[in-house]
Amino acid sequence: MSFIIAANWKMNKAPQDTVEFFETFRQTKVADKIKTLFFVPAVNALPTSQAGVNWGPQNIFPAATGAFTGENSPKVMADLGARYVLVGHSERRSLFFETDEQTNIKLHSAQEFGLSPILCVGETLDERKQGLTLEVLQRQLVTGLSNLTPSNELHIAYEPVWAIGTGEVATTEQVSEAHRFIRKFLQEKLPQHHQKMNILYGGSVKPENANELSKTAEVSGFLVGGASLKPDSFHGIIEAVQG
Ligand code: PEP
Repeated sequence: MSFIIAANWKMNKAPQDTVEFFETFRQTKVADKIKTLFFVPAVNALPTSQAGVNWGPQNIFPAATGAFTGENSPKVMADLGARYVLVGHSERRSLFFETDEQTNIKLHSAQEFGLSPILCVGETLDERKQGLTLEVLQRQLVTGLSNLTPSNELHIAYEPVWAIGTGEVATTEQVSEAHRFIRKFLQEKLPQHHQKMNILYGGSVKPENANELSKTAEVSGFLVGGASLKPDSFHGIIEAVQG
């Protein structure tokens, strides 16, 4: 199983910035055991595809075409060369009111159009303080993965909401507790598939903390926001994982 290092650019970079990023990134040596992915704004689909990297949109609408103003078609993304998609990122859940039921519909749609999804799960600070972390993960996984048989790659990203974009990183104990819980869930619910499923950690991953986090139990990838925007820091994370 490769260690996945996925960039989430959120609503950053114009097409020209994207071209420049990949001109620099092309020089990065990535070990065979690492797979890099880029989740880019839809407007950057073309230059990202032309850079020849693994990429996908940060969200899709579950239909090929139609009257869905402002949405991304999974079919068009796949036609443009996308192979992956993020589903249920905490910003989609908190700012755009995406529910677990909607994440489930999007996962099915991603698979229908040949995109490999990464389902994001994670608790808010309030939920953690109330001791609800594992309950929240269970709910997000049960509903999110409902009636889903992985037809291509399917991965999970554990992202404690309080660690995203805050500079606050979960401790290795917190990360391993959540990741072990997710792995056990996958072993039980998707016994024929779980060995091919990576569990990524996301939340303020940086070159300085990436090595320790990469060695934490059941961590088989990272989803990186802020530190993925500059080739230097993204490269630094790759180097830290390569050891
Ligand atoms: C993210 O956007 O999924 C994320 C983890 O962001 P950051 O690395 O900036 O915390």
